[in-house]
Amino acid sequence: MADILAGGKPSLIIESGEPDWLSPIPLDHDGTWMIRISDRSITPNPNELLIHPPSLVVGVGCERDCAPDELRELVVETLADARLAPQSVRAIVSIDVKADEPAVHTLAEGLGVPARFFNAAELEAESPRLENPSDIVFREVGAHGVSEAAALAATGPKGMLIVAKRKSRRATCAVARGPHIDVRQIGRSRGHLSIVGTGPGDKAHRTPATDTAIARAQDIVGYGPYLDLLGPSIAGKTRHDFGLGAEIDRCRHALNLAGQGRDIALVSSGDPGVFAMATLVFELLDQEAHPDWQRISIDVHPGVSAMQLAAARAGAPLGHDFCAISLSDLLTPWPTIQERLRAAAEADFVTAFYNPRSRKRHHQIETARDIFLAHRPVDTPVIIARNLAREGESVEIMPLSELQVESIDMLTVVIIGNSQSRQMALVGRSWAYTPRGYVQKNIGKTGS
Ligand code: SAH
Repeated sequence: MADILAGGKPSLIIESGEPDWLSPIPLDHDGTWMIRISDRSITPNPNELLIHPPSLVVGVGCERDCAPDELRELVVETLADARLAPQSVRAIVSIDVKADEPAVHTLAEGLGVPARFFNAAELEAESPRLENPSDIVFREVGAHGVSEAAALAATGPKGMLIVAKRKSRRATCAVARGPHIDVRQIGRSRGHLSIVGTGPGDKAHRTPATDTAIARAQDIVGYGPYLDLLGPSIAGKTRHDFGLGAEIDRCRHALNLAGQGRDIALVSSGDPGVFAMATLVFELLDQEAHPDWQRISIDVHPGVSAMQLAAARAGAPLGHDFCAISLSDLLTPWPTIQERLRAAAEADFVTAFYNPRSRKRHHQIETARDIFLAHRPVDTPVIIARNLAREGESVEIMPLSELQVESIDMLTVVIIGNSQSRQMALVGRSWAYTPRGYVQKNIGKTGS
């Protein structure tokens, strides 16, 4: 390539593919240099630049839970026997009921190409061109072939079957060649749902894994104001804004979009698994049998929960056993919440309160304070953290007996220390921490 760029005029042999990027290179029919474009697996001659064009698609089929090695070996041997270059394979294709088949995805990942899927009707449209149409396959999946049909569907009307169906015990494969393969035009992907949490507010508290999941997503689903917090990182993506309280609709919508083969990020604030959307997604998947939902892939990415940032701002109040209780009685009956409050107070857990108060609801935080006052010293530190990592952030530390509910709203998280937690003044401000006992223990040792 360096010699050609330095002025050597090559001659050109095109065996397969339709290169549109060659035109700027001056050609010479009797050149010393040679460019060969071929999807065959060959060893280039000296002075020859061999380019494998994106011209092949491998169609596969297999039984449920076929061993990934069996399918991979079948494909590797099929390509080798036909003297085809794996580098020219642009996609692995199959029928949509295989969209969650591990062997298919392992194969595609191994070759570094995408896996794409067609429905039975799209495959059936290829029946006239199949070399091995099968009535048995038709009865099973609604199309007369899977591997041959998928390879042909992927390469389009100009495509040709170049290796007819080959079988191993539990898998099949076939190869088609097409003029110019654009993966974006081929079938559908397996849908993907990333369940992410933005952290309490600003970008600094969002994990890199969450940013990556958001970056790959085509569609972003969430509560409008949380999506706004994502700023430019979701520019150009399709937004699906939902109002407060529309949690089930949000999750269903995200699952439906992923079920159509799209890449979705479902966004909560804080950590998506802490009083947030992740659990609702799994509840829906557990209770409703939508075949489209069952085939998607799902990742849950942890985020910094409000409780964690509140604790960090205040010092180290969660240093010993702790629990979190949501004071919202929308989904949990108030008597149950009260029971948990009593149990946490009695067991001396440091306790974080989420959803401590709303415009209509404020008696809960008062009751919580009274329950804890019955079990903890009056000077137990309480942290009231509002609008964390957002405009107007405030973090106050005060003794339990002075807890004022007026300063608490829906965007506040409250942490009550345990009986050992301490408040102290240091470098001109107040801190709180919960000892684990290290210092006490070491003092004891030195003394003995
Ligand atoms: N998944 C979220 C919690 C959602 S429940 C998380 O892990 O943080 C909503 C409650 O979280 C709010 O009522 C409030 O108690 C707390 N919260 C969420 N974001 C907050 C913030 N930036 N500052 C203070 N509290 C917050």
